[in-house]
Amino acid sequence: MADKFDVIVIGAGPGGYVAAIRAAQLGLKTACVEKWIGKEGKVVHGGTCLNVGCIPSKALLEASHKFVEAKHDFDDMGIQAGDVSMDVKKMMARKDTIVKNLTGGISGLFKANGVTAIDGTGKVLSKGQVEVTDQDGKATTYDADSIVIAAGSVPVEIPPTPLKEGLVVDSTGALEFQETPKRLGVIGAGVIGLELGSVWNRLGSEVTMLEAMDDFLPMVDTAIAKETQKLLKKQGLDIKLGARVTGSEVKGEEVVVKYTDAKGEQEMTFDKLIVCVGRKPYTKGVVADGAGVELDERGFIQVDDQCRTSLPGVFAIGDCVRGQMLAHKASEEGIMVADIIAGHKAEMNYDAIPCVIYTFPEVAWVGLNEQDAKAKGIEVKTGAFPFAASGRAMANNATEGQAKIIADAETDRVLGMHIVGQHAGEMIAQGVIALEFGSSAEDLALTCYAHPTMSEAVHEAALAVEGHAIHMANRKKKK
Ligand code: FAD
Ligand code: AMP
Repeated sequence: MADKFDVIVIGAGPGGYVAAIRAAQLGLKTACVEKWIGKEGKVVHGGTCLNVGCIPSKALLEASHKFVEAKHDFDDMGIQAGDVSMDVKKMMARKDTIVKNLTGGISGLFKANGVTAIDGTGKVLSKGQVEVTDQDGKATTYDADSIVIAAGSVPVEIPPTPLKEGLVVDSTGALEFQETPKRLGVIGAGVIGLELGSVWNRLGSEVTMLEAMDDFLPMVDTAIAKETQKLLKKQGLDIKLGARVTGSEVKGEEVVVKYTDAKGEQEMTFDKLIVCVGRKPYTKGVVADGAGVELDERGFIQVDDQCRTSLPGVFAIGDCVRGQMLAHKASEEGIMVADIIAGHKAEMNYDAIPCVIYTFPEVAWVGLNEQDAKAKGIEVKTGAFPFAASGRAMANNATEGQAKIIADAETDRVLGMHIVGQHAGEMIAQGVIALEFGSSAEDLALTCYAHPTMSEAVHEAALAVEGHAIHMANRKKKK
């Protein structure tokens, strides 16, 4: 008879593997089921994030950024690097090694924490029962007191641009180009589109981004989004807003894309096309018909604030449930759910989840932006500080961007922090902590920051909320 577990987790992405490790740490007998077949033909852990998401994209972003620095910025600092070129295949091989090491690391963490890894496709049969079908088609049923579904998400495909291997690709395909395309089209100027477009733009592609919406990064504070758009344009990214793709045709080695914009029907030809129009929950086959786990109207597994599904004892977390599709959101939900299963009190603060776009400079934000706060009828006061006035930014050759704090006009409580600048993704942790601790802008202003650091811009932005920034002329003065 198959083993019985306290907890079975389906999916070993950042939601599932973290939930499994935490559950095992809390003394629960835990198994994690995974079906992802890696490049070596064996099951690998880590899900989208480690295999085809966060990590490989960042490996390419870092390499391509260093290439641009060596080619264009080193000279400024007196470094004579000579002719700089990029070996794309080597860059890809390095990315693959990082993925291999990290995914292997999860298997190691499972062993160290006593999580039983089960290779195969998991399906919730009913309350407390999971069937796992292995690569040979053999099915085994396991009992578990609690089940966590962490099945993740997959890229959205749109009818106008059916994928064609190596030519019209999704984000996964865009991480596998073995040479730099001359003319690259990217559909969707969201987070993933901007990151992938940046990689290939830096390596020499002529990149055109076609974005259906008229607004650029509407979830980001308008001042920060506007500056980001300007900076990316300066780098050569041609971002066409209000451009809705309506069709495409593969002609030999090229793809002709049709789109409509304010001027009417348009057409462009590319050597490669990346379709980055979002992701959708992946729930195929993960629950048996009639088992009682409900989906919502958009196909997400329906859950309450603590990730309980409609079937008692079954939880769902990460990209397959409502909320932002982010690895750290999935992981935090995994920890919360494991804690709840172990009998502890736990909850998530969905208002304090940071988002980062790993362009150069990075864009990072948490909490409300100024326009949304105002739309909610909240009276706000803001403070912003440009990196152009930061000593460390000058030393780093990274004077572009700004940090902005949005605070409640009456209580001074920090409502949001939005940054565009080098290392914004690291700096935003300060905003997350401010929100978590219910800090005021004055709390940040009264905090001692190390000098010289990029984070001093956050300190100055906090001071600027009351018109007291030291290293710039203030817009307003406090009496
Ligand atoms: P996933 O990581 O998708 O994992 C789900 C796992 O479940 C998969 O391994 C899948 O094989 C498995 N599974 C599904 N069904 C079954 C089944 N029936 N049986 C067994 N196993 C099953 N997020 C960030 O926070 N930061 C970033 O920088 C970032 N960059 C990204 C870049 C790209 C190009 C992409 C595509 C995504 C990026 N993301 C990023 C998003 C991030 O990858 C996801 O939010 C995150 O992976 C979601 O975690 P998850 O555990 O919910 O799902
Ligand atoms: P994200 O949701 O951050 O992954 O971004 C996906 C982006 O793709 C969104 O900004 C959408 O507006 C955009 N998008 C979706 N469909 C189309 C389309 N047919 N043409 C152009 N852009 C699109």
